[in-house]
Amino acid sequence: MIITMKAGATDKHKKAIQIKIRKLGLDANHLIRGKERTVIAVVGDTKSVSEAQFATMPGVEHVVRILKPYKLASREVKKNNSQIKISPGIVIGGKQIHLIAGPCAVESLEMLMDIAKQVKRSGATMLRGGAFKPRTSPYAFQGLGEIGLQFLAQARAKTGLPVVSEVRDLRSVDMVARYADVLQVGARNMQNYDLLIELGKTKKPVLLKRGLSATLEELLQAAEYILKGGNNRVILCERGIRTYERATRNTLDLSAVPVLKQTSHLPVVVDPSHAAGDWRLIESLSRAAVAAGADGLMVEVHTEPDLAVSDGGQSLKPKRFTQLMKSCRKIAAAIGRSL
Ligand code: PEP
Ligand code: MN
Repeated sequence: MIITMKAGATDKHKKAIQIKIRKLGLDANHLIRGKERTVIAVVGDTKSVSEAQFATMPGVEHVVRILKPYKLASREVKKNNSQIKISPGIVIGGKQIHLIAGPCAVESLEMLMDIAKQVKRSGATMLRGGAFKPRTSPYAFQGLGEIGLQFLAQARAKTGLPVVSEVRDLRSVDMVARYADVLQVGARNMQNYDLLIELGKTKKPVLLKRGLSATLEELLQAAEYILKGGNNRVILCERGIRTYERATRNTLDLSAVPVLKQTSHLPVVVDPSHAAGDWRLIESLSRAAVAAGADGLMVEVHTEPDLAVSDGGQSLKPKRFTQLMKSCRKIAAAIGRSL
């Protein structure tokens, strides 16, 4: 349920509403302050609460029940797009589209530095790299762990690019949060609710990837876990879903972009690399994602894809990444955005 306050509602009016919400055993901590009006989200099991209980209270403009299973992530609660500040100059969800680029896994400091410098030169605004890798096979490279995170921090110091890195489990949340600017939740962890709850308590932005077989409603409910915990900096990521089609590693669900934009205020990033699994398809899919309204792209780049320890076949060489940036810039300009 959401309670929209009148433009002239006072703090006293809002406090009275919050007290009443809490008396009903519900969570009243989610206030969304707009330019003129404040919206108070009533979070919890509101089945036995009626709109009339709040509608006549002083300062209330109207009360609406949200029927969707996610509330804080919904457009009903927040009409304007969420703009998520990553670092002083980088905001995701605004006019500028951001390119997050880098290797699948951090392999060595030299390799990471080399890639970071090259993607920065091409216009990427953030660096990606996994230090904890969720691999299908337990025998595959699992990541460098803390050393990999230290390399990422060194690459950030050198290039100024904020870094995105995956948190694979509950134990590594604090450690990854010490080094990375954005905490990535991998597709396989989208419904790891303990992890989502923990990330709700952190102060770092979260890039939440859609599960391999998750519906968009399930993705938004996963986001809701993080928002409910008090962390409102959540970025959604479409990374392809499993379908019957085997020509690509996964099927990039481009409709996810406009659907998520309609139903939620959260920014949407598209990862064409894990969707396609083939570097030859990345540029076309990136252009399509920008045209569809994505707020950012996450692309795997490697200086020597043939030698990459993971996802080499879908990684672009820096030169091709530069080409991708140039062609996506034209699409961005055509729809009134920058890149
Ligand atoms: C990744 O980004 O390197 C990754 C493992 O992605 P996903 O969780 O989408 O498979
Ligand atoms: Mn990868």
